[in-house]
Amino acid sequence: MRVLWVTNDLPPRAGGIEQFVGNLLDRVHPSSTLVIGPAGAGDDEQRAHDAAQPYRTVRAPGAVQPTPAIRRLVLDAAREHRAQVVVLGASWPLGELAPRIERELRIPVVAISHGLEAGLASVGLGHLVRRATRGLAALTTISDWAEDRLLPHVRADRVVRIPPGVDVDRFRPDVDGTALRRAWGVPDDAPLVGCVSRLVPRKGQDRLLAVWPEVRARHPMAHLALVGEGPLADDLAGAAAALGSDAGVVLPGRVAWDDLPAAHAAADVFAMPCRTRLLGTDVEGLGIVYLEAQAVGRPAIAGRSGGAPEAVQDGVTGTVVDGRDDGALVAALDRWLADPDGRARAGAAGRAWVEQAWAWAAIADRFATLLDEVVAEHAGRRVSPPRPGG
Ligand code: GDP
Repeated sequence: MRVLWVTNDLPPRAGGIEQFVGNLLDRVHPSSTLVIGPAGAGDDEQRAHDAAQPYRTVRAPGAVQPTPAIRRLVLDAAREHRAQVVVLGASWPLGELAPRIERELRIPVVAISHGLEAGLASVGLGHLVRRATRGLAALTTISDWAEDRLLPHVRADRVVRIPPGVDVDRFRPDVDGTALRRAWGVPDDAPLVGCVSRLVPRKGQDRLLAVWPEVRARHPMAHLALVGEGPLADDLAGAAAALGSDAGVVLPGRVAWDDLPAAHAAADVFAMPCRTRLLGTDVEGLGIVYLEAQAVGRPAIAGRSGGAPEAVQDGVTGTVVDGRDDGALVAALDRWLADPDGRARAGAAGRAWVEQAWAWAAIADRFATLLDEVVAEHAGRRVSPPRPGG
């Protein structure tokens, strides 16, 4: 199967969509895939990453958006690659490219939806979803929450659930986070609350810092590591500094892809009390980080935003809280910090659940089957005689 991917979100840049796209690329026809991705900083990490993949990556001159220049690039690349199907890394706004691709190349287009598209649909912008899905052979959805919001607007021929998953061979309970903890200056015997995420308002790192004095009052040894980078880095560092140098808070910055499992394993409890913002447009589609944390056997505290509650079994593998309710956040942190045996039980349950429901291998198989089906259907449609009156 010859596949052309068109995506503005691509590793080595960090982020949920980047992870999603990278994991499917690794597993679905990698050696016969061509990727059109965004120009990054053109840095060494990006060059080395692209060169190491089994698929070929062409970096666009800038962002990959549905502009006339990108459309030309896509049509030319699809012809040159003799693509049988085009996959769009995000259905909005890239779905705008689909009708022309279908019309000029006579190949099906499949698009992946994330949290944003459902956010648009839920704030009265469903017409954008309708436009961006009108040329699609298939649209994939990530969660019940997202699909419920999208379905009334979707014009794609079919809708299929492809949630993001976890590489359960990389994210394992026996991953050792000790070296990272030490690098972060966390004592070996201190219980550590970890958050691994972009530093943006929705994720709720600010609430973790706000409640930290109260958590510390109950657990004087506890430490907090806010891993990641982002626009809030300076604000969060300022808030952490204001708690005092002995508050046990560290902001180690971004970790390398290879260190991600260890960054999760370094913590005893994962917490990202996300909250929906901007009238519902800034919303958590699912929250891969919760699945990653559970895969390494840690309980996960999630915020009630979008599909995030579907990524944790509340009370079993973690806790779901209202990200705006500081009292609930303190109670959830207290519960897991106070109970090492409970953490171990929740961690084991989380690991088992992720293996069974969220393993990338099985999710990627479903995606490969979807590509086979749309290509076969499309071919059948081309050879079948026109319907009477059609
Ligand atoms: P999103 O970025 O809002 O889509 O959030 P998700 O939780 O869905 O996904 C974020 C992904 O980026 C997860 O796989 C995280 O582990 C990853 N990520 C977050 N922070 C970092 C970081 O500092 N380094 C690396 N390598 N990955 C990170």
